[in-house]
Amino acid sequence: MKATTNAFQMAQQQFDQVAEQLKLDQQVSDYLRWPMREFSFRIPVKMDGGDIKIFNGFRVQHNDAIGPCKGGIRFHPSETIDTVRALATWMTWKCAVADIPLGGGKGGVIVDPATLTNTEKENLCRGYMQKVWRNIGPRRDVPAPDVGTTPQMMGWMMDEYSKLSGEYTPGVITGKPVGGGGSLGRTEATGLGVIYTIREAMKRLKIDPSKTTASIQGFGNVAQYAAIGFTNVLKGKVMAVSYWDRDDRTSYTISHPKGIDAVYLQSITNQYGAIDKEKAKSTGYEIEEGTGWISKDVDVLIPAAIEGQINAETVEMISDKVKIIAEGANGPTTLEADEQLKKRGVFMVPDFLCNAGGVTVSYFESVQNDMNYYWSKEEVLQKLDEKMTNAFRSVYDMYEKERVFMRDAAYMVAISRVVKAMQLRGWI
Ligand code: NAD
Repeated sequence: MKATTNAFQMAQQQFDQVAEQLKLDQQVSDYLRWPMREFSFRIPVKMDGGDIKIFNGFRVQHNDAIGPCKGGIRFHPSETIDTVRALATWMTWKCAVADIPLGGGKGGVIVDPATLTNTEKENLCRGYMQKVWRNIGPRRDVPAPDVGTTPQMMGWMMDEYSKLSGEYTPGVITGKPVGGGGSLGRTEATGLGVIYTIREAMKRLKIDPSKTTASIQGFGNVAQYAAIGFTNVLKGKVMAVSYWDRDDRTSYTISHPKGIDAVYLQSITNQYGAIDKEKAKSTGYEIEEGTGWISKDVDVLIPAAIEGQINAETVEMISDKVKIIAEGANGPTTLEADEQLKKRGVFMVPDFLCNAGGVTVSYFESVQNDMNYYWSKEEVLQKLDEKMTNAFRSVYDMYEKERVFMRDAAYMVAISRVVKAMQLRGWI
């Protein structure tokens, strides 16, 4: 297979591989390797100085056989139609593996949001919605926040949609603030979902979680709740976490010989997931520059920062003690590293299974919006646990039956479910 750095080509290659294993019909493969519908548009935005600036926006709907499309809107300077296509495709597989009745979608605008004032951001969000509102909706396609967008922006978009459609429609978008139609438990959902899948993996591998240790890359939303869950739910110890310091453009690993106190570290972490080094040092933490998190002698590695972190080079640094890698981040392991990990027999919980807790609670948010009745946090987290446990079970059963790598097993489950829904609807 030819190596590619184009995200959409990568998504298509991954799909082709599994389509072949599943012996999918050629026409079905042709349909699924491309999005079913795409929108490209230009958004004029009134800037604070009074001039008008034009931004390019996209919304891609990959597949809605199982239910309305679902996926975030990214505001990023290097956004392209191909990154949006790839992410929309991956959302189809993520929703299918999590067994939530939604399809895959994604949106984007080519913009660096840090260069906009608050009013300009609001104008851009409303402008985006004016372009897509006729083609999205609670029964069609439900966006959410992603890189560069925030709950506040979702609030503006929801308001614009409601104005244009003439009725209050909170279910058009998820990731809204709690009190403004958001769901309790969304903040913790992805990190705790990671923990539920690790718990299930340990059951199958006959590992006692209370005797295990972990090292985590990142200390943002996903990593913080994965660290808290590893201690509180699994009763294991997190030995190290890491983060990227924007000011000195360096990554740091923070560890404690007795295991970190994740709740304490969270209290000294800023909104960008950067820990206060001085405070940590003064309370007995060791701080090292660089990627030390990956070479710790632990049972579990949780990459929960950015993509491509376990690659041909860094995979060699992973200790022989590591039994499980749980991918909290999207795409943290490259294809070359995957090959090495397969040979070493490391058990992989692949990203679109491992981090599906976020989209699962987003789905719960739209269900609650629809009912206009809101669940307690305990109720949300209990339903999340059930969904993640069942998703893990389906993938593990496929892994045992087909004797393939867990990532391939997850793809097989997801693609089979989408194909089945297409058959049931008479599309194929
Ligand atoms: P975040 O911005 O809250 O946190 C990112 C963390 O990673 C920060 O602590 C940052 O310092 C750290 N980081 C960045 N580069 C690093 C590096 N080179 N070395 C060490 N640390 C580094 O982001 P998040 O919401 O926690 O998302 C993390 C990953 O999980 C992303 O891949 C995201 O796409 C994925 N994800 C997130 C969610 C969610 O609900 N938040 C859901 C599914 C997937």
